[in-house]
Amino acid sequence: MGSIILFGPPGAGKGTQAQRILDRTGQPQVSTGDMLRAAVAAGTPVGMEAKSYMESGALVPDEVIVRIIEERLTEPDAANGVMFDGFPRTIPQAEALDAIATIDAVIAIEVPDDEIVGRITGRYTCKPCGRVFHDVHLPLPPSGCPCGTFVEVRRADDSEATVRARLSTYHEQTSPVAEHYDRAGLLHRIDGVGDVDQISNAILAALGVE
Ligand SMILES: [Zn+2]
Repeated sequence: MGSIILFGPPGAGKGTQAQRILDRTGQPQVSTGDMLRAAVAAGTPVGMEAKSYMESGALVPDEVIVRIIEERLTEPDAANGVMFDGFPRTIPQAEALDAIATIDAVIAIEVPDDEIVGRITGRYTCKPCGRVFHDVHLPLPPSGCPCGTFVEVRRADDSEATVRARLSTYHEQTSPVAEHYDRAGLLHRIDGVGDVDQISNAILAALGVE
């Protein structure tokens, strides 16, 4: 079994679906941030190289990231591939990844921007206990927050303009990479609106996991 790549805009439920896929495939989920931190902590040669870029405040070049991924793929838990999260973001990264890994499938969870804006901008949190509520989907019960002391907090970066800006960055980055894998016949576009179980089942069916 080769590796898979999971794409999804912020607010599309990617984290939940990633966990459900991993429960079935047993593949570790890898993000470049986690791999970088692990390689630096382990003190491998490529990790030390990455560290010198990070300490100077520079971006770690793709070539170094790809070597860190290559190293990660040799670890025992990656014998049946991994799930890439948030990588690749560019065509050169995708081409570099193609050279060192077998990609079996690319899953793109798709949710219309308006739906995501509705999901995110309606969110608010109870400050003392951290419970999350939503204007439409999960309003505060008439009896108040179960913790007994409700103090509403809304994140400033959950405003509509901020969410739309994040989404437009996501689409600009993801579209060319998704097309790259579509040309290779690996892209599965999954409708991310609706029942969470049905979405999981659609993803697992696309992956050929029973
Ligand atoms: Zn509370």
